[in-house]
Amino acid sequence: MAGRVTLINSSLSSTSIYHMSMYLLPKTIADTLDKQRRTFLWSGNALKKKYHLVRWETICKSKKKGGLGIKNIRKMNVSLLCKWWWKLENEDGLWQSIVKAKYMSNNQLIGSFKHRVDDSPIWSDLLKIRPGYLKGRSTKVRNGRSTLFWEEPWLKSKPLCVLYPVLYDLCTDKGISVHQFILKHAQLHFSRWLPVTLFGPWVSLIDEVYSYPFENEEDKISWKMHKSGGFSTRSVYDLMTSGDTGHPFSHIWKARIPHRIKIFMWLYENKAILTKENLLRRNWQGDPSCYFCPNDENMDHLFFTCPIAKVIWGMIAITLGANNIPENLDQYKIWIEHWLPGGRPVYTFCVAAVCWAIWKRRNAVCFEKKSLRNPVDILLYACALMTYWAGLYGADMQGRIVEGVKVLIACAHKVLAQ
Ligand SMILES: [Zn+2]
Repeated sequence: MAGRVTLINSSLSSTSIYHMSMYLLPKTIADTLDKQRRTFLWSGNALKKKYHLVRWETICKSKKKGGLGIKNIRKMNVSLLCKWWWKLENEDGLWQSIVKAKYMSNNQLIGSFKHRVDDSPIWSDLLKIRPGYLKGRSTKVRNGRSTLFWEEPWLKSKPLCVLYPVLYDLCTDKGISVHQFILKHAQLHFSRWLPVTLFGPWVSLIDEVYSYPFENEEDKISWKMHKSGGFSTRSVYDLMTSGDTGHPFSHIWKARIPHRIKIFMWLYENKAILTKENLLRRNWQGDPSCYFCPNDENMDHLFFTCPIAKVIWGMIAITLGANNIPENLDQYKIWIEHWLPGGRPVYTFCVAAVCWAIWKRRNAVCFEKKSLRNPVDILLYACALMTYWAGLYGADMQGRIVEGVKVLIACAHKVLAQ
């Protein structure tokens, strides 16, 4: 699965980048692309797609928000298209000249175009995503030529049309620029006489405008989503996904373990390991009992409370000098912190090795009909994994892990000898 995540991010998500940076993909196409990626992600799974146990929306969230960081097609599409608006306003070129000649004949501002019947498909796509672009763009007014008087936030933090909705509603000069306002000497047209309650605020607004420090230079357009003020598609994407919520699982992504084990632990945190309990939830027909004992198999049982797991955790507890063992993943986090203080870098490392070892042995029993001779076998397998993975740490930590594992193996052999 980890390999498929990488492949999706490096190829399936980017094959359509060219099209996405030219057109707004129709919803059906975006959905088809999503379906392909989703099917591919779960394809290696022996079980068919009705066993997808994590929602696609969750998978598409960034790792910081609890997902796998697979890009959302629609949001990526919009962020790529926003770049055209930025180019139109800030760069010169053939495309810009054509667009300006065709659509911006009388120095119209980009916030004031209306959709027209003869718009080209690309242009009407751009008009559709314009609101998103305008959200991230800010202008520093100098001569006011490139800034809309009512609809852009320039004098205050919000646009004047939001702060003075009634005045905006009555005004018949809605699309004017700040510069035009000055040229008209503030003589804007309103559809009726302003009563005193509106006239007062209008006059003080005019005063405020006139006390603004205008300069004899073009307005400066900048991109407020990026520190440098320069545009980046990534910042648009980040802005569009900023509303996502979710647990980050940073302990998994930071852990020094192979990527596929990270994905395995991520599935565990999402309660999506395909244990019999989870299969039954998806209408799988079969015997619900554990492969190692007569109880029903679920994640907490398999990895912590099954007699087999208890033997393993018991030996780890002896090695750590603990007098109890954890019964689920949440308890493990508190337990290990208590009995192995200062060992934070290896907390996820240890539990991942044990759970992965149990899972592999369980699958060997399930699919290869192998029988388990002794639970200590699983522990020894977990120790082998830990010794192997220790190579992912620096020399000092590696040495300490190998020492710890040696003690654990000695303990296991003592039990075996009994
Ligand atoms: Zn069991």
